[in-house]
Amino acid sequence: MSRRRQIYEGKAKILYEGPEPGTLIQYFKDDATAFNAQKKGTIQGKGVINNRISEFVFTRLNHIGVPNHFIRRLNMREQLVRQVEIVPIEVVVRNVAAGSISKRLGIPEGEPLPHTLIEYYYKDDALGDPMIAEEHIACFGWANNDEMQYISSMAIRVNDFLCGMFAAINIRLVDFKLEFGRIWDGDYSRVILADEISPDSCRLWDMTTGEKLDKDRFRRDLGGEEEAYQEVARRLGRRCRGGDNAVNRSRKPSEKRAADRPDCRAGPLGWG
Ligand code: 5GP
Repeated sequence: MSRRRQIYEGKAKILYEGPEPGTLIQYFKDDATAFNAQKKGTIQGKGVINNRISEFVFTRLNHIGVPNHFIRRLNMREQLVRQVEIVPIEVVVRNVAAGSISKRLGIPEGEPLPHTLIEYYYKDDALGDPMIAEEHIACFGWANNDEMQYISSMAIRVNDFLCGMFAAINIRLVDFKLEFGRIWDGDYSRVILADEISPDSCRLWDMTTGEKLDKDRFRRDLGGEEEAYQEVARRLGRRCRGGDNAVNRSRKPSEKRAADRPDCRAGPLGWG
């Protein structure tokens, strides 16, 4: 039996060689890490839910003109994506003070920011992803000026879209992290959105109760991670059965499709 080639294993995902050149298979794990992987655990069924949510969000972003790496979902835990050369920058967009900005600047968590903030962090686990200025990005050639203009304008566009999308299901988008990558055509490259958008990479608070529906439940030992992720999927109309390890079970393709079907239903947004 031939084994597919693993390209990269991250904290929450594995990338495998795709079926055609220029494609990859992105596999979503249940593994959860926090504080630069000092805290490790598992959120049962997280990979299945994040695969669904990310598919949903990236598909919609594509429709509003935010080019991204998503091609199609393959199964419960995997999606086919375009292979990109990752720009080594994490782009964090903030609408409300929380997490590291509250800690760093003493701004009370939950305080709305006077305007949307974009921050950049250098993607380097060994250094703990330090915060950087645009000057560092230019100085060290991590991205050029045109790329940064594109990245910042796309980040704002994604934020506008996501704020509206989540507000429609009574969720406040507090902040989130994006990653971008280059695709090459001969000597020319262009930047597209990559990675994932899910409760792993966003802070999502219920607008009425303030309840956290994201990875902070894991980071802060609040419990109920699985239910929170499922609640986001449910409100988006992507209800997923938690704890499903469908990809790892051996099923005939027909059984796999049948098992796949009830997990995703059109929901309150009617975006089925
Ligand atoms: P903070 O800087 O407050 O820790 O994080 C800001 C936002 O970016 C949060 O929504 C957080 O989930 C996301 N974020 C920051 N770094 C990472 C990361 O390395 N991985 C993921 N999945 N999300 C991150």
